Amino acid sequence: MNMMNFTRIVLKNLFSKPATRNYPAQPKEFFARTRGHVEIEIQACIFCGLCSKKCPTGAITVERGEKKWSIERFGCIQCGYCVESCPKKCLCMCPPYPQPEAQKPTEAYVQPELEPIEKSEKLDRAEQ
Ligand code: SF4
Ligand code: SF4
Repeated sequence: MNMMNFTRIVLKNLFSKPATRNYPAQPKEFFARTRGHVEIEIQACIFCGLCSKKCPTGAITVERGEKKWSIERFGCIQCGYCVESCPKKCLCMCPPYPQPEAQKPTEAYVQPELEPIEKSEKLDRAEQ
């Protein structure tokens, strides 16, 4: 490399923006359609277990009797098969990616019980 080339590169780098980001002070902006992590809208889940059967790493567990859906975050490889296979469309993938941790936690979601219908409301419905 001759001296002219070297000087040109030094000057270019001196007056251009850095190629790196000042993380974490400047957080990362995710691109559209970044897969990130799996989220569930537990109220809409019917506990059919399809997501669990399709998961290539066995990261999802569905307990129909207990109405419990759980995921091992670090077992997930963000393939998106569970999202594609869910008949109720209650799974989605969204940023950010799971944060690093020392442990391998399993996140569990339990469907809340539905509120009992008031007696008078039941009667009104029966009359209709
Ligand atoms: S495929 Fe969808 S509806 Fe079925 S258990 Fe999984 S999240 Fe629930
Ligand atoms: S994205 Fe893939 S690896 Fe992750 S839970 Fe869904 S099916 Fe399993």
